[in-house]
Amino acid sequence: MSSYDVIIIGSGPGGYVCAIRCAQLGLKTAVVEGRETLGGTCLNIGCIPSKALLHASHMLHEAEHNFAAMGLKGKSPSVDWKQMLAYKDDVIAQNTKGIEFLFKKNKITWLKGWGSIPEAGKVRVGDDTHEAKTIIIATGSTPSALPGIEIDEKTVVTSEGALELAKIPKKLVVIGAGVIGLELGSVYARLGAEVQVIEYLDHITPGMDAEVSKTFQRILSKQGLAFTLGAAVQSVDTAKSGAKVTYKLRKDDSTHIVEADTVLVATGRKPYVDGLGLEALGVKMTDRGQIATDSHYATNIKGIYAIGDAIVGPMLAHKAEDEGMAVAEVVAGKHGHVNYGVIPGVIYTHPEVASVGATEESVKKDGRAYKVGKFSFMGNGRAKANFSGDGFVKILADKETDRILGAHIIGPMAGDLIHEVCVAMEFGASAQDLALTCHAHPTYSEAVREAALACGDGAIHA
Ligand SMILES: Cc1cc2nc3c(=O)[nH]c(=O)nc-3n(C[C@H](O)[C@H](O)[C@H](O)COP(=O)(O)OP(=O)(O)OC[C@H]3O[C@@H](n4cnc5c(N)ncnc54)[C@H](O)[C@@H]3O)c2cc1C
Repeated sequence: MSSYDVIIIGSGPGGYVCAIRCAQLGLKTAVVEGRETLGGTCLNIGCIPSKALLHASHMLHEAEHNFAAMGLKGKSPSVDWKQMLAYKDDVIAQNTKGIEFLFKKNKITWLKGWGSIPEAGKVRVGDDTHEAKTIIIATGSTPSALPGIEIDEKTVVTSEGALELAKIPKKLVVIGAGVIGLELGSVYARLGAEVQVIEYLDHITPGMDAEVSKTFQRILSKQGLAFTLGAAVQSVDTAKSGAKVTYKLRKDDSTHIVEADTVLVATGRKPYVDGLGLEALGVKMTDRGQIATDSHYATNIKGIYAIGDAIVGPMLAHKAEDEGMAVAEVVAGKHGHVNYGVIPGVIYTHPEVASVGATEESVKKDGRAYKVGKFSFMGNGRAKANFSGDGFVKILADKETDRILGAHIIGPMAGDLIHEVCVAMEFGASAQDLALTCHAHPTYSEAVREAALACGDGAIHA
């Protein structure tokens, strides 16, 4: 029996980052991972492969739509789908091997296999039982399918199957207009598929600032994605080739059938805790199937902690990473902390969509006096040069104190731009603080400054 200070179950962004921080803090650390490669959902079947396909398909879109206008003439590239998948797999391999290297560098042991917790202080992997003063569960999440819909990962797929379809579908139906559905829907739309997105709500991207959500839908529609909103999917029936999706429109209860080669079920994810033995241990769960923890990530069982997608909060890689670092600090007797008010969310379509903090709807609901500063990318020279004028930056600030409450960006590199607002919010900055900060010209970030200026006496280029 080998013994460790810490055993982490799961090597996703939560688990591997936690392991590295534990090792840096001098703790003898092991990670249990059942997959053949490290990195979890994010590196193997999530963030990284989806971004590789988004990048490749965006390049094609640029070649087809913007090259000629810049004087780059000639035939647009054709798609070699096999090669595109190989490129995606290579990107995955580079990243997962990178984590293996970091484990070796930090002397972290990889216990290969699926882990369970027979009792506090013990982790079983295959026939071996290991001892640990602290156990951290970082087992992530899995797609939550709609009841009655059978997933075969060929014709009816989750995001996992959608990342390695045998061929590009002629018609793709995406069920669910959340981040994953829209990112993967965009990939296939750019590659030539007819994409129809069916969403139960009457708007896309639930939880997003409504103004951004509307603009986003308009832009995606222009790119060829069709939206059927307010529609409840009843069934998905697979035929010899393809599938039939039956849905009911909520406004008039009318039933409709749509045929597709491929159906992507992107209706959310749920925590994955199967096989850990949590019930027998008496680990407290929330009514949504998440592991219940206190503010220090401790479960109700002494010595067992949990982080990432398996617990409450946004299912995001960087949230899991931050919790991984925080819990490592806690276990090492320090003060780990995550500021949940400043966790950015990004959709990596083109344009990108990014947000942090309060939405206009949430500040209204809180009855808070606020002001809005908005600036369109049409007024940004760099964006115009790069065919990226669609979209805007919106900053919400407290009416009295000018303190930044939230920011929402739809436009080029929004996922990078949002971080200057995140840093500003971490330091409790006012919109004026951002507005008085010199921004290099010509950069997209000038649009952020202009939106901050618009919270005060006005933007310059509006
Ligand atoms: C298609 C897609 C795209 C996404 N894109 C983004 C994005 O762009 N940005 C973003 O922030 N988030 C994105 N996400 C979400 C992100 O992947 C997750 O939030 C993140 O991976 C959660 O990290 P985690 O460490 O909690 O768990 P995971 O990454 O899910 O890792 C958990 C690991 O635990 C292992 N495991 C589970 N049970 C056991 C066991 N009993 N024994 C051993 N090992 C076990 C699993 O094999 C897995 O490797 C995306 C997700 C998907 C599906």
